[in-house]
Amino acid sequence: MTIRLYDSAAREKRVFVPQDPARVTMYVCGPTVYNYAHIGNARPPIVFDVLRRLLMHVYGENAVVYARNITDIEDKIIRASLETGEPIADITRKFAGIYNADTAALNVLPPTVEPWATAHVAEMIDMIDRLVRKGYAYVGKEGVWFAVSQMNDYGKLSGRKPGDNEAGARVEVDPDKRDPSDFALWKFAKPGEPEDAIWGSPWGRGRPGWHIECSAMAAKHLGKTIDIHGGGIDLQFPHHENEIAQSECAHGQAMANYWLHNGFLDMSGEKMSKSLGNVVLVHDLLKDWPGEVLRLAMLSGHYRAPLDWTEDLLKQAKATLDRIYGALRRVWEAEGGEARDTGVERALEDDLNTPEALAELSRLATEANTAADQKDAVGMANAKANLLAAGKLLGLLTHTPKEWEHGGDADENARIDALVEARVAARAARDWAEADRIRKELAEQGIEIMDGPAGSTWRRL
Ligand code: AMP
Ligand code: ZN
Repeated sequence: MTIRLYDSAAREKRVFVPQDPARVTMYVCGPTVYNYAHIGNARPPIVFDVLRRLLMHVYGENAVVYARNITDIEDKIIRASLETGEPIADITRKFAGIYNADTAALNVLPPTVEPWATAHVAEMIDMIDRLVRKGYAYVGKEGVWFAVSQMNDYGKLSGRKPGDNEAGARVEVDPDKRDPSDFALWKFAKPGEPEDAIWGSPWGRGRPGWHIECSAMAAKHLGKTIDIHGGGIDLQFPHHENEIAQSECAHGQAMANYWLHNGFLDMSGEKMSKSLGNVVLVHDLLKDWPGEVLRLAMLSGHYRAPLDWTEDLLKQAKATLDRIYGALRRVWEAEGGEARDTGVERALEDDLNTPEALAELSRLATEANTAADQKDAVGMANAKANLLAAGKLLGLLTHTPKEWEHGGDADENARIDALVEARVAARAARDWAEADRIRKELAEQGIEIMDGPAGSTWRRL
């Protein structure tokens, strides 16, 4: 079994070789917790959850150590606290909870470790101290800066050199810095900043910069060199470039052996942004769609390509899942099947080719239907095992077919079950008017009753 991953640093697909197959390490930059996650924010947790599931499948459930941090101190959080008057810890606890609930609804497994930045300030100070002593950092009036000129290969991940700027970007000249590309390791507290955003340090009271948070937490939980580092493509520069600078200059060894970046999600052809008013929250989408529909829609494109998020994409994802669950229902009672190696696994091993993996999942559904048509008991059992194994890799098919077709919450489903039973009783008593009335009542609520040889079942339309 060979996994190939596109390494942004090497700019090519490379065979994945972990340092230690018994302890495969992956770090993915997590959310800054001060508001609701939008659907673009959900792309990295879903994409890297699929990679994590593949690694667990190949190296063993307990062999993968996956860290995804919580950034709970940052300028935007401080601003939110000043605006609302709420303590920082209240804001971050609330939104980290919402983030974890939203991602759980998308079948994202909890990371092995979820380090919070504010619990690692001592490690950050330690790392900054090492950088200052080695001559990679200097103390200014506003904070402690990393001196990019001191690192020979600064810019190797993104291919940008200090002084390069995006076309048309204006260089802010900051007299406190020696070079405009130098970045903050530690920011001194300014008047008016809340006390709960301030820590003591050897250089003065203040708070860590965003980049040093990840460098310190990755080293502490995963080691100085990690196997895989991931995040959105917008983080490649400057965030990941600066993580590399800090970690490699502090430790004298590579920070990560593979760098993976997911592409951006757009809204019906437009960039999602507050100013365009087209920001869609995961929290709101989950009111209208099952989590698996959102997840399948997210995986319908290759993770490195831009993904255009449309209503149509969601409808297609829903139809695909309805079809697959329909096939699963037909083989559901078959027991004792054995899963074989399928194309789902092979597609994922090729740089997480999820569009191909989903096409293969649909083929497995067709196999299930064929086996059911032919009343092939062994074929049905194997088809069920294959579908469930593939579903586990992709984080799909976590419901029973009945749950999927019923949807809704348990109380609501119990109410519908009761009405369907009342109708069965009415029919048994030859009370056709009452049976018909219940059927109509349910139809008005979008529930279809299906009468068959084994009794009456129902589904949502
Ligand atoms: P932000 O809230 O902008 O700091 O982003 C948090 C995370 O979401 C980062 O990992 C970003 O790379 C990712 N992200 C933000 N916007 C999008 C988008 N439209 N598509 C994909 N990923 C995104
Ligand atoms: Zn990071």
